[in-house]
Amino acid sequence: MADTWDLFVLEYARSHQQPWVDLISGMYEDGKVDLPFSFMLAQQGDRNVLIDTGFMQGEGSSGFSEKFGVPNWVSPVRMLEEVGVSADAVTDIVITHAHFDHMGSVGEFPNANLIIQKSELLTWYEAIALPKRFGYLTAIIDPDNLKTALEASIEHRVTLVDGDKDNVLPGLHVRLGSGHTVGQQFVIVETGRGRLVVSGDCVYSRMQITGRDNDGVYIPLNNATGCVWDQLKTIDKINTEIGGDQERLIVLHDIDRWPGLPLVKEVEGFKIVKAG
Ligand SMILES: [Zn+2]
Repeated sequence: MADTWDLFVLEYARSHQQPWVDLISGMYEDGKVDLPFSFMLAQQGDRNVLIDTGFMQGEGSSGFSEKFGVPNWVSPVRMLEEVGVSADAVTDIVITHAHFDHMGSVGEFPNANLIIQKSELLTWYEAIALPKRFGYLTAIIDPDNLKTALEASIEHRVTLVDGDKDNVLPGLHVRLGSGHTVGQQFVIVETGRGRLVVSGDCVYSRMQITGRDNDGVYIPLNNATGCVWDQLKTIDKINTEIGGDQERLIVLHDIDRWPGLPLVKEVEGFKIVKAG
């Protein structure tokens, strides 16, 4: 099939004992989870495309991520090297949204074109300029990532997408999915096993789509800067895109760590799986 991609999930970090209710609305009785963090690699011909980048820690990093105490981490750059992709060889990065755990290592890929919603990047420039009393909005935005994006803009390496767009790269489509952030996008990738949807942080759990006890009532997030109305419309947009088939949805923070997808490699306990 023309314009299909090989698509991989690369896990690179895991939090420890995060309360579910901090993530998803109403989950007061559901305890705590070790939440996985991941990004994706899509390959087609000479193109190595990332969907999100993960974040850096330690030497050479901004130190931003350390504030959040994510105890288990392997460099996303190393995870890519484990599948034979050097940072220099990354051609494009589709950024679902600008939270540090999705955009935090964007500075590690000097040749990549960044593809992000115009409303995502510009609202964060606006929000970060607000007085400190608005700090809740930008608590998980690393200012260094915004600086990196501006530098990339000056180098003409940024594509600002305005809403839904097919074929931002051949066989790779983006959809505005406001709610978790203003300009959050989710990504549709044409693969050998059909169209797959990468959630971004539109959902943390499939249950947000199927509803509690499969009652079919969508469940909003508890860590969003956008409104519940937008979040539920976004969940509906994803549900429509997958036609109710959960096998076609890749959740980046999948607490079950992508069951059913073939394992390519395990690196220090972190999985690389083939999604399509
Ligand atoms: Zn997020």
